[in-house]
Amino acid sequence: MEFRPTLSIDRLISELNALAQVSEADPPVVTRVLFSDADLRARAYIKGLCLKASLEVHEDAIGNTFARWQGSEPGLAPVATGSHIDAIPNAGKYDGVVGVLGGLEVIRALQRCGARPKHSIELLLFTSEEPTRFGIGCLGSRLLSGTMTPDAARKLIDKDGVSLEEVRRKAGYSAPLEEVKLPGGYYKAFVELHIEQGPLLEQQKLPLGIVTSIAAPASLRFSIEGAGGHAGAVLMPERRDALCAAAELVLAIENAAKSSGAIDTVATVGICEVFPGAVNSIPSRVRLTLDLRDTSLARRDAAMRAIETARQTIVAERQVSISEELVNADAPAQCAPEIVEALSQACAKHNLASMKMVSRAYHDSLFMSRIAPVAMLFIPCRNGYSHRPDEYASPEDIARGALVLAETLASLAS
Ligand SMILES: [Zn+2]
Repeated sequence: MEFRPTLSIDRLISELNALAQVSEADPPVVTRVLFSDADLRARAYIKGLCLKASLEVHEDAIGNTFARWQGSEPGLAPVATGSHIDAIPNAGKYDGVVGVLGGLEVIRALQRCGARPKHSIELLLFTSEEPTRFGIGCLGSRLLSGTMTPDAARKLIDKDGVSLEEVRRKAGYSAPLEEVKLPGGYYKAFVELHIEQGPLLEQQKLPLGIVTSIAAPASLRFSIEGAGGHAGAVLMPERRDALCAAAELVLAIENAAKSSGAIDTVATVGICEVFPGAVNSIPSRVRLTLDLRDTSLARRDAAMRAIETARQTIVAERQVSISEELVNADAPAQCAPEIVEALSQACAKHNLASMKMVSRAYHDSLFMSRIAPVAMLFIPCRNGYSHRPDEYASPEDIARGALVLAETLASLAS
């Protein structure tokens, strides 16, 4: 089958631009935090497009949205694609959205081909891939895959003290969270189209990346308690400055990543809150967040142990207390060889060069891999920029990604 003439890239780009207007901030900034007014309006827009394409739409208790094109043998496990449409504050319009609207256009293109596949093809829109509101990413796919329990989800509270239970009910999702998890084998395959969010494809001048594994993320929160006091009156030997202890911990974290023995270990402290935050007051309390990732679980965990050793040393030497809370520590995912092969063949069929690569960012595919064979397809984004308003993927690159996704889904669903 030749799909190229039937993909309507102009329409896809105009839908992408339309969705970018649905934002909590002025264009070109896209901000869509979970269950905000913008998030709900964006969901409504996508659901409307799916219904217009005659897909069967349903939502689960956390707001994961499923839009199915029924196959000719509805008893068979569906083949799925999709991504997310939530966006961190001050983000761009391609992250996640390319996989959702691109997936939808692919289904519409396959519908226009006339031949109905045996397996149903389902578009998924995952709830809260970004951790903005509740501090944990991939909420929807974690629950869907059983990686997070409903009990753990019910304990989530946002920074305003509002629980996930409350915000989801307000957004219209009130069924028990127990109904979200899907059984293993529910999907035959899941393929996610996404912008690379890094510079490798552009540097290599390649239009497509086929992801073979997804790095293992971990995230922790540290709370350092020292002693406050007057910046003039308390002399240095008497001090138990929480920020100085935090500074040592931040450098120990950097060192743990740098000395892991592999370039794949990356550690970031992205939030540092200092209390009371006054020029003439010794910091008494500091909160830090740690984001630690690696393609190897063993190496990631070794870095975590090195950070733990440093924490104990700093506590002893500086007479402060440092408590830590593990937000998540997930295993890496290996992509399914049969889907990687289907993607490679689709690239070859259309004479499109590609490279095999690791996804260092994590995505809903990481969690989908717990219940289904998965793989991801990356397209370049300018300068590797993502999570910023000037994030950009060209219509040509989006078209190539959609074309390969169409071929792949058609072959997996046939
Ligand atoms: Zn994303």
